[in-house]
Amino acid sequence: MEPAWSGFPGAAIKYDRAGLSRFTKRAPAIDTDTDLAAAGGLLTVDLDAVAENYGTLRAEASGAEVAAVVKANAYGLGMGPVARRLADEGCGTFFVADANEGAALRALLPQVDIYVLNGLFPGAAGFYAGHGLAPCLASLAEVAEWRAAAGDGRLPAALHFDTGMNRLGMNEDDAAALAAEGALTEGIEVRLVMSHLACSDEAGNPMNARQLARFKALREGLATRFPEARASLANSGGIYLGKDYHFDLVRPGVSLYGGSPFTGRANPFRPAVTVEARVLAVREAGPGETAGYGGTWAAGHPARLAVLAAGYADGYMRALSARRTPGDNGGYENGGQVRIAGYTAPVAGRVSMDMLIVDVSGLPEGAVKRGDMAELIGPHITVDDVGLKAGTLGYEILTSLGNRYMRVYLSGGGRV
Ligand SMILES: *Cc1c(COP(=O)(O)O)cnc(C)c1O
Repeated sequence: MEPAWSGFPGAAIKYDRAGLSRFTKRAPAIDTDTDLAAAGGLLTVDLDAVAENYGTLRAEASGAEVAAVVKANAYGLGMGPVARRLADEGCGTFFVADANEGAALRALLPQVDIYVLNGLFPGAAGFYAGHGLAPCLASLAEVAEWRAAAGDGRLPAALHFDTGMNRLGMNEDDAAALAAEGALTEGIEVRLVMSHLACSDEAGNPMNARQLARFKALREGLATRFPEARASLANSGGIYLGKDYHFDLVRPGVSLYGGSPFTGRANPFRPAVTVEARVLAVREAGPGETAGYGGTWAAGHPARLAVLAAGYADGYMRALSARRTPGDNGGYENGGQVRIAGYTAPVAGRVSMDMLIVDVSGLPEGAVKRGDMAELIGPHITVDDVGLKAGTLGYEILTSLGNRYMRVYLSGGGRV
């Protein structure tokens, strides 16, 4: 099976170029011995689901290349196993957030194109070039640094334009300068002209069409100077805004991992992550007794509680806590829910660092036993529901998944 740190495998990156850095980086050597019976939490990543979601996106964006966004350790799933599987499925272009992520990916996949979304950092050009990374250049200053690094050679890059999000990217004046002045990009192989949508999760938001129009104009203005450059605008949500948004290459992230890229519409993607926590104890609480820190939950009638081995240190957010007073008839709407022994049960009281308590009073006696596993996220409890209940979204739940879980990767129906 994959060790837990396989996201950054063999991460012995020795780098000594242009005096920028001299150190050997090595991922911590944990996971030398783990045992399912000894695991409090289990995180299962279904690589077949990731592959199927990649296929769904390819069909939806047919005609465009489907790249994969694997930043933040592939949204928490583990960049190594995920990127390798996607490459096996034919994915040849990857996006990461920074160059250290890019270097880890490069060590795994020597052949693919890797773009760095956060652009070029001052003084880091040698590192990018040394690992074959293409920055998404977001200012004329970055363009100038990359050009200087190219020297007499050629270095690949994307040109990133802002079309309304006001996050990263150059503006129309910068585009005009680049179009007019070839010397600015001498030595840079501009492979991609890109922008990013701010509201792609809402199909009806007028921002989408405004950004599309600005992007088209930018692209036309740059076409003569960079005839070879391809265009890219859509993330997961953008792909579902229609063909106009696809251009040459699309950049999905969350949908690959089974998260929903939209609001108010059924999610066509297969969940790729299951998180389970072990039942440490089952206990009875009499009427009026409280449970957990702060005593914010109280039993209204004799209650049965199951204590699970996961908490906010594992990314099961404290915002999923649920208060209850003895008078409440429920009072669980805002707390988390888990799937346990075939039933859905609500969180009781505050989520603590390493444990959470669930109210299993509604389950048949004996249905839940010490040692059982309860589903926190998975086929019954979607990552998007957990996000909603925690006052956030599925993206943050995935990227917050902790390191303590025993990780299992499934492929071809079996464990890898
Ligand atoms: C994160 C990111 C993506 C992927 O977005 P999803 O909504 O996860 O599909 C694409 N492009 C850029 C610029 C990003 O930052």
